[in-house]
Amino acid sequence: MILVLKQNPEKEKVESLIKMLGEKGLSTNVSEGESHTIIGLIGDTSHLPVDLISALDIVESVTRISEPFKAANRKMHPENSIIDCSGVKIGEGLFQVIAGPCSVESEAQIIEVAKDVKASGATLLRGGAFKPRTSPYAFQGLHADGLKLLLEAKKETGLPIVTEIMNVNHVDLFADVDVIQVGARNMQNFDLLKELGKCRKPILLKRGLANTIEEFLMSAEYIMAGGNNNVILCERGIRTFETKTRNTLDLSAVPMLKKLSHLPVIIDPSHATGISWMVEPLAKAAVAVGADGLMIEVHNNPAKALCDGAQSLNPQQFDTLMQDIKRRVEFEGKKIGR
Ligand code: PEP
Ligand code: MN
Repeated sequence: MILVLKQNPEKEKVESLIKMLGEKGLSTNVSEGESHTIIGLIGDTSHLPVDLISALDIVESVTRISEPFKAANRKMHPENSIIDCSGVKIGEGLFQVIAGPCSVESEAQIIEVAKDVKASGATLLRGGAFKPRTSPYAFQGLHADGLKLLLEAKKETGLPIVTEIMNVNHVDLFADVDVIQVGARNMQNFDLLKELGKCRKPILLKRGLANTIEEFLMSAEYIMAGGNNNVILCERGIRTFETKTRNTLDLSAVPMLKKLSHLPVIIDPSHATGISWMVEPLAKAAVAVGADGLMIEVHNNPAKALCDGAQSLNPQQFDTLMQDIKRRVEFEGKKIGR
C-alpha cells in the first residue's frame, strides 16, 4: 500500500503517522520526491483503518499495490534507486562496468586482469571464488583463498570487488566483499536471499535460468523484505529452445524491469551468449536499451581459462569495446565512474 502525502506536510504529523503504522506491525519506506512524499507500507495491511488514514489532513491518497512485489515496486519509490558499491554508484545516470575473469585462478592472474580492466575504464572487478559448476569434476574455485586474492587485487587497483556467494553460512566470510553476487542458479535459494536481507551490502541478483520477470522481482523482494534495499538486478539470458547461444539474452527485460521497479538493471552479455564475439554487439545493445551497467568476463588468456574461456574477452578486446561503450554511455547522457 502507498500513501501519497499532501505537499509540505507537517513533520510532526508525518512522524506520528509513521509511528502509528509501526505499531501496527508495518515497516515504512519514505520516499521524498520533488513534489510529493510517498510512504510505502510493507507488511500485512489488511487490518489497517484505511478510511481513517485517508481522512488524515496530511494524506492525499491511499493506493493498494496489486503486484506481489512491494519494496521493489516503482510505485513504492518512483525515483530510480542509486546503489552505492563502496563509492561506485550505480543507477540514475551512473553506468558502471563490472569486468574480470569468470573465476579467480591465481594471484598473478587476478591482479593482471584487474589492472588491465581498470586501465580500460572498468569500475568494479569481478571474479568467482565459489563457482557453481554444472559438473562436480570441473574447477570449483579457490574458495576462501580466492576471496583473499580478490582483496589483494582490490588493494592494488582500488576497484571494489563483486563475487558470488553460494552458501547461506558464508555471509561472514564475505564481510570484506563490496558487492555480493547471487548467481542464476541460486536466484530462488530463499534461505540465502533472506540471510542477505539481513546485511546492508549491495547484492547483485542474477536472473534465474528459466525464471519470469515477476519471479525475478520476487527474489529481489526477499532481500528487501529483510531491510536490505541495496539490490542490483542482472539480466544474463534465459533458457529457450535456441541452442546456437548458451542462453537467449532477454533485452526486453531491461525496460520492463525498469518500468516495474526502481532498482538498477545491468546486463551480462558474456553468460547470455557464451561466445566472446557476441559480447560486443550485445554490450552495445545493453546501453541502447537503457541498462545501468554491464558485467563482462575478461581473462588474460581466454584459451587457458579454467572456466568460461569461450565467452571471455582478452584485455585488448575489452579495451576496444570500452572505448566504444564510453561514447555510447555519454550519448545517452550517462556517466561511467564515481
Ligand atoms: C558468473 O557470473 O560467474 C555466473 C556463474 O553467472 P550466472 O549465475 O549468470 O550463470
Ligand atoms: Mn562465468
